[in-house]
Amino acid sequence: MRAITVYDTFRGAEVELEPRAAGKVGIYACGPTVYAPIHVGNARPFVTFAVFKRFLEHEGYDVTLVVNITDVNDKIYDAARERGVASESLVAEMTERYLSDTDGLGLGRPDHEPRAAQSIEAIVVLIEALIASDHAYAVAGDVYFRVRSFPAYGRLSNRALEDMVQAEGDEARVDIKESPQDFALWKARKPGEDTAWPSPWGEGRPGWHIECSAMAEGILGTDFDIHGGGIDLVFPHHENEIAQTEAGRDERLARVWMHNGMVRLADEKMSKSLGNIQPLAEALERHGRDAIVMWLLSGHYRRPLAFTDEIVGDAGRSVERIREFCGRLHRFAPPPDALAPYSERFFAALADDFNTPVARSALFDWVAEGNRRLDSGERLGVGELGTMLDVIGFAHLVDGEGEAPPPEAERLAAEREAARAARDFATADRKRDELTALGWEVRDGAEGSRLVPLQR
Ligand SMILES: [Zn+2]
Repeated sequence: MRAITVYDTFRGAEVELEPRAAGKVGIYACGPTVYAPIHVGNARPFVTFAVFKRFLEHEGYDVTLVVNITDVNDKIYDAARERGVASESLVAEMTERYLSDTDGLGLGRPDHEPRAAQSIEAIVVLIEALIASDHAYAVAGDVYFRVRSFPAYGRLSNRALEDMVQAEGDEARVDIKESPQDFALWKARKPGEDTAWPSPWGEGRPGWHIECSAMAEGILGTDFDIHGGGIDLVFPHHENEIAQTEAGRDERLARVWMHNGMVRLADEKMSKSLGNIQPLAEALERHGRDAIVMWLLSGHYRRPLAFTDEIVGDAGRSVERIREFCGRLHRFAPPPDALAPYSERFFAALADDFNTPVARSALFDWVAEGNRRLDSGERLGVGELGTMLDVIGFAHLVDGEGEAPPPEAERLAAEREAARAARDFATADRKRDELTALGWEVRDGAEGSRLVPLQR
């Protein structure tokens, strides 16, 4: 296996990935709070970790990707009140929109998508452990984490204690908190809040940070391989997750912390509170999935990335160059050995802190050199280019036409594959017919089967 390095925010350095279990990688990335449709900035961690997972799988790892859905949060109560709907129905609507918007990215779903509202029991158990070990205290129906009890607090964000006052929402309750740095694990139900759960401290709901600690542990355990999310989550969210899990379990939460940079619109961080957002659904409708995904991969995941229609349009046109090139390739011709260094550079770049812009330029060098060779009359097959495209989610370009298959078609194709493997040919045939009805056809080849759009 190739050595893979990633930048670890905790150690402030690029480190070699050393999985807890040989050959297996567990990733937890913080997902959206479902109170409004997601914007293109929210799509960045989704795409980054989905494609990083595909790369790790190409390198031979068995990867489990967990992306949670935050469906219990102050913002949800506020947004529901503003719209005059029940918070439960707002959550149901926005969760569905999140799922269909991210389906539109054509990269499949994460392996697990836990929801806070379905994890309350585990959250309460973790809070009880923190109280029992004196790392937390209950007061007036709330429970707070006692930051002074955890000396490592502040290591991830590299901040001094006095710079870590938590003053948003319930965290501002200096009248009942032992110290201004303490943050809420459980919040007593307030008048006007229409969803609440019973607990040993009375009716209420969990704080945002403890939700992620409990959901991550429920699926990946502790000391898992990679914890990810946007760089804006380092403090207080991830700092608090570390404190909760490590104080409560006496185990490290995660081995590596990978943070993606923000998407910027007109030189400002895109955020719902600033009101300068570009909803993902609108961007997908305007530019198409290929342009959006290629744009997200065009910058290094740790750097800020600018969104303008022009920049995304350019990314879309660059995808067309690949599509056209693939259309010129010869089906059974081998790729020349001279192109091997490009694919080596592509994978080496992804292994070096997931450097997608360098990988992307290696891919376009392959295309440019391939075009030159085709122009001079050489016969060229797709070879390693197909593997590179598959890793970044563009396998469909090999057909030289068509968009990525919709998730429904992927699911049917996977079910057909499973039926064939089980020698249940009647089911396999039925799945193929359902695919045909959707406008897709499975082509079986030496390297497995793939979906292609039906010629109309
Ligand atoms: Zn989180």
